Amino acid sequence: MGLLGIKENLESVWDRIRKACERAGRRPEEVSLVAVTKNVPVHLIEEAIEAGVEDIGENRFQEAREKFARIGKRVRWHMVGHLQTNKVKGALQIFDIIHSLDRIKLAEEIERRASAEGRIVRCLVQVNLSGEPTKFGIGEEDLIPFLLEISRMEHIRVEGLMTIAPLMENPEDTRPFFRRLRELREMVEKERMDRVEMRHLSMGMSADFEVAVEEGATMVRIGTAIFGPRN
Ligand SMILES: *Cc1c(COP(=O)(O)O)cnc(C)c1O
Repeated sequence: MGLLGIKENLESVWDRIRKACERAGRRPEEVSLVAVTKNVPVHLIEEAIEAGVEDIGENRFQEAREKFARIGKRVRWHMVGHLQTNKVKGALQIFDIIHSLDRIKLAEEIERRASAEGRIVRCLVQVNLSGEPTKFGIGEEDLIPFLLEISRMEHIRVEGLMTIAPLMENPEDTRPFFRRLRELREMVEKERMDRVEMRHLSMGMSADFEVAVEEGATMVRIGTAIFGPRN
């Protein structure tokens, strides 16, 4: 994957998303591509935008802020990484949606800042399905109590769930994790909580997005397959 091939890489990723949708009997419009641009310089992001990218994912606030100053609101900005509470104020200036709501302290800070600004903030709850201690996210047994607490926060709208599958030699082995996130969505929907909708499943990265789409992903977060390996 060369740096000159961003447009071609994108075409290929979109094509693979379409085919995965076909296999699963889903409509391609149900899936949006979030181009993950961490460590990618602005001129290459510009190239991706020219080729049709409308959603950008960043995992660090500082890096996003520098890029946002140059790229601005031409695209939607997705926070896909761990967010520190002391970065919430700045993050709300940039991001349209936060995929990584993973603790009450963070929710409380988002609620406080959003309330002060009279805004509603769109969030996905990050779920840690593999139990790997190195990963952020709510354990599945804690998900419902966590959401019940969040649902009292009037300036947070939960729009779904996000997960990062463990890295597998064979992408097919990630399927149980994606399927589990879909089942959790159904379980949450039954609770009918205020301000909690389960319209989105953010799952699937370069190595496993086709499996994720087959299992119901509505947002795939893809970096390497578009921009090549990161340094
Ligand atoms: C880096 C990153 C991605 C994209 O990973 P690739 O394997 O490069 O596609 C997706 N989601 C999150 C949370 C990331 O940090």
